[in-house]
Amino acid sequence: MEALPQAVNLHDYEKAVSEADWGKVSEYFTWYNTGNVNMVHEAIDRHVEEGKADKVALYFTDGLRDERYTYEEMKEKSCRFANGLKKIGVEKGDRVFIFMPRSPELYFAMLGIIRIGAIAGPLFEAFMEEAVKDRLEDSGAKAVVTTPQLLSRIPFDELPELEKIILVGDAEATGEHLIPYEELMSHSADYVMEWVDREDGMVLHYTSGSTGKPKGVLQVHDAMVHQYLAGKWTYDLHEDDVYWCTADPGWVTGTSGGMWSPWLNGVTNVLRGGRFKAEDWFETLQKYGVTVWFSAPTAFRLLMASGNELPNQYDLSKLRHVLSAGEPLNPEVIRWGAEALNMRIHDNWWMTETGSSVCANFRCNTIRPGSMGKPLPGIEMAIISDQGEELPPNRMGNLAIKPTWPAMMRKIWNNDEKYESYFLNGWFITGDSAYKDEDGYYWFEGRVDDVINTSGERVGPFEVESKLVEHPAVAEAGVIGVPDPVRGEVIKAFITLRPGNVESDELLEEIRQHVKTKLAAHAAPKMFEVRDSIPKTRSGKIMRRVLKAWELGLPAGDLSTMEE
Ligand code: ATP
Ligand code: MG
Repeated sequence: MEALPQAVNLHDYEKAVSEADWGKVSEYFTWYNTGNVNMVHEAIDRHVEEGKADKVALYFTDGLRDERYTYEEMKEKSCRFANGLKKIGVEKGDRVFIFMPRSPELYFAMLGIIRIGAIAGPLFEAFMEEAVKDRLEDSGAKAVVTTPQLLSRIPFDELPELEKIILVGDAEATGEHLIPYEELMSHSADYVMEWVDREDGMVLHYTSGSTGKPKGVLQVHDAMVHQYLAGKWTYDLHEDDVYWCTADPGWVTGTSGGMWSPWLNGVTNVLRGGRFKAEDWFETLQKYGVTVWFSAPTAFRLLMASGNELPNQYDLSKLRHVLSAGEPLNPEVIRWGAEALNMRIHDNWWMTETGSSVCANFRCNTIRPGSMGKPLPGIEMAIISDQGEELPPNRMGNLAIKPTWPAMMRKIWNNDEKYESYFLNGWFITGDSAYKDEDGYYWFEGRVDDVINTSGERVGPFEVESKLVEHPAVAEAGVIGVPDPVRGEVIKAFITLRPGNVESDELLEEIRQHVKTKLAAHAAPKMFEVRDSIPKTRSGKIMRRVLKAWELGLPAGDLSTMEE
């Protein structure tokens, strides 16, 4: 089959904005001519048909295993998994969850599920029983793919809709509902593919839970139009790239940014299992000659803490594009990237509900450190007042997007009311607060709920946190507003110290002065609390609502996604 026309990489931002047309992007896909739709066809099978059968689709390492799979092998493995699923009665539209550590089998399962038109629900391996139960119950999952180590966290008897559990790894499978992975894979390697509608459900992601109870966000096959383009434009993927996204597939970045964007673009993808260790990460970049690397501020801060010397011990010369998303990127981290990696780190903004990158620092644009860049051409973004009116430049307000775009969520599972609550006056409201400057760059302030009002001034916690971590003694910081009868709110900072520092009144005053002189007097924290750790979600986001609840002695709410 002849390769179809492809969107080119982004060279002229303004031109792309004026020509933006999702319909045009659709021409890249085989369904544009055949009418046959399925994400897995576009991400895997078509590359096999177009002469890339032997190209490496996936490198995997976790320190113990060291494997590679070609596009052909990805097709074969996922067909086996798909056939196995059919054999045990899984059908189009059924929800099948995957609750296991990062591994090739996790990917075969994802692809196998979607291949037969079922909906894949990836769950981060660290969830405990109650969190797992909540999600399986809410989604009405029919089957779960897991490992023997995690099996005890699935309360099978309390989940009437759950029929089968597929076990990956050595275990005595006892009970009719337990199916060994090997057995599932043994039935047939025959080609199998369920053609679906572009609007059919594909992935169900539960959000990070930073602001409250996680929501089940449904993405459909049509998301591929956007994810393909984000791969080209935000990630700057080219044919010969070796790409590594460090996010776990339990979060949207790990599927949209870790599977679909790279595979739709036919590049070689890297997956690293195991726990974070700075040495292992640099080793991974070197070993595979990673060219495009996508990670998150929390991970960059950990790498930063390991010192500027460490990266020098590795050959990172292949690296040409570095990306960050998930949290605001501290200017300090950008500086570290420039010094330690000799790289610009490109921040981009999105959320589970947007399904892919919607605002980014593109390679062809100048970076303004601290800004999350400009909207992806094709995305209409604005700052909106609480009444739903568009605000002029430099005014802080609700970050909003004009519906619809291809990767946008199509529903909140089991909660239509919640879905409706995202929309105001024809806009999708993100829940984040930001402003746009005269040149169209967007600047993130914080979650709307986190913005602090002190003595009549608005203060975004992120700006204060960024200043705090700039101080050499501070490792991490979380900042909240505490009610105050005079000032409305006063700023309180929770910090952790870098090794070698001891808490003292002098040190805290020095840190306070640092924020005062480098940022603003009104933004300097009035109160400090030094802690061993800052509460974070498992996807690495600071949970300010938990800090606030602790401070006010209130219940902390849903903690299912909090790191131990
Ligand atoms: P929940 O919706 O359950 O409270 P969450 O919003 O953290 O959790 P995600 O969808 O994983 O769940 O995260 C999206 C949020 O992450 C955005 O709303 C934003 O606050 C933050 N975010 C993502 N990328 C960036 C970025 N580049 N800069 C600043 N913030 C970002
Ligand atoms: Mg959210």
